Amino acid sequence: MSSPGAGRLSIVMPCYNEQEGLASAAHQVLQLLSELVSRGRIAQGNLWLVDDGSRDGTWAVIESLSAADPRVVGLKLSRNRGHQNALLAGLMNADGDAVISLDADLQDDIGVIDEMVEAWLAGFEVVYGVRRSRVQDSFFKRWTARRYYALLRLLGVDVVPDHAEYRLMSRAALEALAEYPETHLFLRGLVPQLGFRSTQVFYDRKLRVAGHTKYPLRRMVGLGLDGITSFSAVPLRLIAAGGAVLFVLSTLVALWVMGVRLFTDHAVPGWASTTLPIYALGGVQLLCLGVVGEYVAKIYMEVKRRPRYLIEKTAGDAGGIAARTDKSKLKQ
Ligand code: UDP
Ligand code: MG
Repeated sequence: MSSPGAGRLSIVMPCYNEQEGLASAAHQVLQLLSELVSRGRIAQGNLWLVDDGSRDGTWAVIESLSAADPRVVGLKLSRNRGHQNALLAGLMNADGDAVISLDADLQDDIGVIDEMVEAWLAGFEVVYGVRRSRVQDSFFKRWTARRYYALLRLLGVDVVPDHAEYRLMSRAALEALAEYPETHLFLRGLVPQLGFRSTQVFYDRKLRVAGHTKYPLRRMVGLGLDGITSFSAVPLRLIAAGGAVLFVLSTLVALWVMGVRLFTDHAVPGWASTTLPIYALGGVQLLCLGVVGEYVAKIYMEVKRRPRYLIEKTAGDAGGIAARTDKSKLKQ
């Protein structure tokens, strides 16, 4: 759609307790931006660091980086809102004609940014960074990730397998994303829904060099549930289908019981046939209530329309961001 020519490129990195590796990561990215500018690939580049309510010295690192280099812009969120919201804060405020999201630990190879930009210049609005292999992951993470992506597909959620949050989005795609006001963000499910011309670049993921993972199992499960319940009503439909099957079965059993009672003399009330269904149905009902409850909770959170992030402070040339909420139109 748009033909950007050599435009401005912003890189967005969400940072949560990343003080150890951040300065070196930022220098590598800045150097890459200089290279891209000197080769005429882009006209300008800048780096947006979003401090997601870190408890360590991350914000101080961001402030000193931004004081040393005008291309570094810092956004400090008022508290920890999680990777997805921090990323959104960066994406909605970064001013590039194209914006690349990148984890602050540089596990994703920045060497393919050149390829991403090339694809963007060739007219693609979304460029997904896709991992070539998952050999770096633990067996557990690899196995659960595979099963999870297969499940998402089965439930009709369109995701790019082995793609996380490393992607380039053009201004048009970002404006489309700004139209999605949902609270429970699952960006890797949302971005493919936007449509637009997209392509993929492949890279090998590295091990984390500094700090440690901010995604313990608990958070991974949370993100995984958001991926399903924010995009698919299939679990609700399964409940209805399960209920229908149980209804038919219990009708048949009732008919059988009546037959035994009316036409035979074996009608000894059995302990098993009385108690078993109570347990079985009790279990099924609780499970179903749980699934329904999960959606109801989601509706509750969505109707509140609370801001997904609040910016407390900025560092560097943040383009006069007056807004303290995620309403992108408030941005000057
Ligand atoms: N992150 C964040 N807020 C959080 C958790 C993580 O902004 O609450 C950032 C983190 O600083 C990093 C990115 O999200 O830049 C990915 O996190 P991490 O590398 O720990 O995840 P992993 O690579 O282990 O899945
Ligand atoms: Mg990481």
